Amino acid sequence: MADFLIIGGGIGGLATARALLSQGHTVQVHEAAPELREVGAGVVLGANAMRALHALGLHDAVRPHGTPVTRLDLRDQQGRLLQSADTTPFTRRLGFDNLGIHRAALQRALLSSLPAGTVRLGSALEQFTESAREVTATFADGSTARADALIGADGIRSRVRRQLLPEAQPRYAGYTCWRAVVEAQHLHLPAGESCETWGQRGRRFGYVPVGQGLVYWFACLNSPEPRHPRFRDFRLTDVQAAFADFHAPVPALLALTRPEQLLWNDILDLPPLSHLAYGRVLLLGDAGHATTPNLGQGAGMAVEDAATLARCLAEAADLATAFSRFEQRRLPRTTRVVRTSWQVGNIGQLENPLLVQLRNAAMRLLPAAVSRQQMAWLYEVNE
Ligand SMILES: Cc1cc2nc3c(=O)[nH]c(=O)nc-3n(C[C@H](O)[C@H](O)[C@H](O)COP(=O)(O)OP(=O)(O)OC[C@H]3O[C@@H](n4cnc5c(N)ncnc54)[C@H](O)[C@@H]3O)c2cc1C
Repeated sequence: MADFLIIGGGIGGLATARALLSQGHTVQVHEAAPELREVGAGVVLGANAMRALHALGLHDAVRPHGTPVTRLDLRDQQGRLLQSADTTPFTRRLGFDNLGIHRAALQRALLSSLPAGTVRLGSALEQFTESAREVTATFADGSTARADALIGADGIRSRVRRQLLPEAQPRYAGYTCWRAVVEAQHLHLPAGESCETWGQRGRRFGYVPVGQGLVYWFACLNSPEPRHPRFRDFRLTDVQAAFADFHAPVPALLALTRPEQLLWNDILDLPPLSHLAYGRVLLLGDAGHATTPNLGQGAGMAVEDAATLARCLAEAADLATAFSRFEQRRLPRTTRVVRTSWQVGNIGQLENPLLVQLRNAAMRLLPAAVSRQQMAWLYEVNE
């Protein structure tokens, strides 16, 4: 059994801590934030992520806090259907739902699966050194910790990755996004239905049920640069105005939002890395393969990483072999998700009216078999 330091107490770090503890390893999670605040909006955990949670013994802790998403509709700005995917044949075959869930509920369920004291809050990694026998981490408060291995699960702006690969920087996708979770029971949206609308002039809106009558929505607009001054001052009323000509229930969902519920992020990803394993150090979750959110797979990939790492550790005789197997198993999939998601975002955010027309026509004509194939590789992981 080995000692692990996990840097970052997000979805990836907490799921990995649970995976390693279940195998009898010793784990200390170091989280920079002074408290694990209930931040974020909704996430979709695909059937692949639910299967990974099952492998970690966490499925039943998470499942009651979300709601199944059984239909993925793609519409144009007027609400005309461009494509519709019924996910139930997949989820039935795999035995797991696609789950819409509030990110805070997911984080809470993961955290409560860990023994008290596993997560050290307010503990920000500054740097680490690696010797032939161990890794030593130094934190912002001057304290140090040693272990057999260090897992960088510290998100898209990972300090661990910056030390290993200073040149690997997040890249801006060209659009910015507002999100919120609203109480929308009285809108009586069809159960299990999620919808994404590709509008004109680089405007995109989506919503997903996340359980208990709550609906998560996101709204994206093209922006020439991150933190653009125009959008820094954007308020809820500006978001409402930008999407006022979208079909129902878009304006109604925006009208249900309170200004303090609004979250704003520029959309970034990480150009795919060539490696995730670096001796006694491993990158996982967004630290190793942050993706744009267009396939709804960021949190899911972090959970898959945890389950795959546990399998690799159980199978391999030593840490180096386990980490290198993890890299071999995970890189092809995470790279494909990152690249495909980037392309989907570029198509969804098109501005040119002629291209928008062509895109919508092409989406309408796309055979159902093609979108089924897309879902198959997302949900049916074989590593
Ligand atoms: C608009 C948007 C929509 C999304 N929608 C979806 C979706 O529908 N489905 C989905 O699966 N995913 C979605 N995601 C992505 C998902 O939220 C992330 O992929 C996921 O949270 C990654 O988890 P993580 O643990 O790797 O990183 P994070 O959740 O970012 O956690 C990293 C943690 O590390 C901590 N940390 C950072 N630096 C240090 C340090 N130096 N020392 C110690 N701790 C540190 C941070 O405080 C943080 O708690 C979306 C993301 C965005 C932006």
